[in-house]
Amino acid sequence: MQLSTHDLERWDKEYVWHPFTQMKAYRREKPLIIERGEGSYLYDIEGNKYLDGYSSLWVNVHGHNHAELNAALREQAGKIAHSTLLGAANVPSILLAKKLVEITPQSLTKVFYSDSGSTSVEIALKMAYQYWQLKDPVRFSGKKNKFISLREAYHGDTIGSVSVGGMETFHHIFRPLLFERLETPAPYTYRLTENNDEEACKALCLDALEALLKERHEEVAGLIIEPLVQGAAGMITAPDGFLRGVRELCTRYEVLLIADEVAVGFGRTGTLFACEQEGVEPDFLCVAKGLTAGYLPLAATLTSEEIFNAFLGEPEELRTFFHGHTYTGNQLACAVALKNLELIEQTGLIASLEKKINFLAQKLAPFRTLPHVGDVRQRGMMVGIEIVQDKASKKPFPIHMQVEHHIILHARRNGAIIRPLGPVIVLMPILSMSLEELDRLTDITYKAIETVTAQTY
Ligand code: PLP
Repeated sequence: MQLSTHDLERWDKEYVWHPFTQMKAYRREKPLIIERGEGSYLYDIEGNKYLDGYSSLWVNVHGHNHAELNAALREQAGKIAHSTLLGAANVPSILLAKKLVEITPQSLTKVFYSDSGSTSVEIALKMAYQYWQLKDPVRFSGKKNKFISLREAYHGDTIGSVSVGGMETFHHIFRPLLFERLETPAPYTYRLTENNDEEACKALCLDALEALLKERHEEVAGLIIEPLVQGAAGMITAPDGFLRGVRELCTRYEVLLIADEVAVGFGRTGTLFACEQEGVEPDFLCVAKGLTAGYLPLAATLTSEEIFNAFLGEPEELRTFFHGHTYTGNQLACAVALKNLELIEQTGLIASLEKKINFLAQKLAPFRTLPHVGDVRQRGMMVGIEIVQDKASKKPFPIHMQVEHHIILHARRNGAIIRPLGPVIVLMPILSMSLEELDRLTDITYKAIETVTAQTY
C-alpha cells in the first residue's frame, strides 16, 4: 500500500496521543513526521531536511543511522534479541556492566539495569530506602523514609520519580498520589540573585540545604540531584562547587547522594560524567538517554559496594531487592551501548568537545543583546536561552502568546529542529556535530528569536 502524507498526518492526529503535548493545539497544526535520519540531520516524510538541534530528546551521541551502531545491532540480532536476567545472565549485559563500572566514579561498583531514566531513578529511591532498613532495622525503623530534591527538579514521569519532582507545572496535579518530598532551593542564579551572582546563589542554596538537613536528616534516606545542570527546568546551570558542597553536606548528615545523570551523562557537559567535574563520588548514579547513543531504551542504576553488601544475606532473610522489569538487561540494547562506549573512546569524542563548547559560547554571546533574551546559560553542549517579555522585571511572555512555540516553528521552517521548555529555548546539539553545523544551528536559532520577538511584540 502506498502511504500518502495526507493519510499519515490524519492518522497521527486521529490515533496517537503525544507526550507532554496539548493535543487540541497539536491537532490544529501540520504534524512533523520524521522518516529517517543521517548524521546530524532528520528528514520528514516529504523529504525536508532539518538539523537535529535537540539530539532527538537529548539522546543522540554519534549521529543518526550510524554504520557501526547499526552493525552492532544487526550482529546481536543475529544471535538473540532478548532473554531474561531473572536467574540467568547474558553476554552483552555482563560486558556493559564491567565497562560502566570502569568508566564511572570509583565509588560505583554494581550495575542494576532498567529501561528508562525514570525507572533508573525509581530503583535508586527504592534501593536507598531499603538500604537503611537493612543496615540497621532497629535504629532506622520508621525513619529515613523521605527524599530531598531541588525546586524545579525533574527526574522522570513514573510515580516515584514524579514524587521527587519539583516542577509545579508538571507535577502539582499528581501530588495527592505521591510520597512526601523535602525541597531545597535550586541554584537558579538568574532568578535568585540581582546580577547573576553565582557565589551568592551557591551560598544561599547550600545554607538552605544545610538548615534543612540539620533539622530533618534523621528522616531522610537520600538526596537526588541533576548534577551541574537541571535540564527539564530550562537548563539551570549550577555555580562551580555547588555539587561538591551538596556531596559534603550529604556525607556530614548521613544522607545518600543520588546523582541523576540521565540528561548530563555521556559527554553532555563536556566530561564523560558531570560528577567528574567536581570530583564527586555519588552513592547512586542513574544513567539512560545517551547510554545507547539514541538507539534503544536502556538505563542503569549504579551503586556502591557498601550498599550492595547490605542486600547480602541467607535466603530466609529475604534481603532481596524486589524489583525488575521484563526487558531488564536486554541484549540488543546492551550490545549497542557497548558499541557506543567503544566509539566514544575510539573517536576521541570527549576531547573533541572542548573546541565545540568554546565555539558555542562564542556564538551565544550576541544572543544576550537581543531585547527579549533575559539569560543565556551554557554548560558543555547544553544551552538554555531564557525568553522574557521584559528584561528589567524578568517577566516571561504570557502563555497564550505562544512566543517560544512560534520561535521553534520559525527555526523549523529554516531547517533546524529545536524545542522550548516553558520560556526557555533549548539547544542540545548532537555531540558529533561539526563546527559548521553548530554555526548553522545557532544562526537559525538567533534569527528565529530575533524575528519572532520583533515581529509580534
Ligand atoms: N532524569 C532526568 C534528569 C531527565 O532529564 C529525564 C528525562 O528527560 C529523566 C530522568 C527521565 O528519563 P526517561 O524519559 O527516559 O524516563
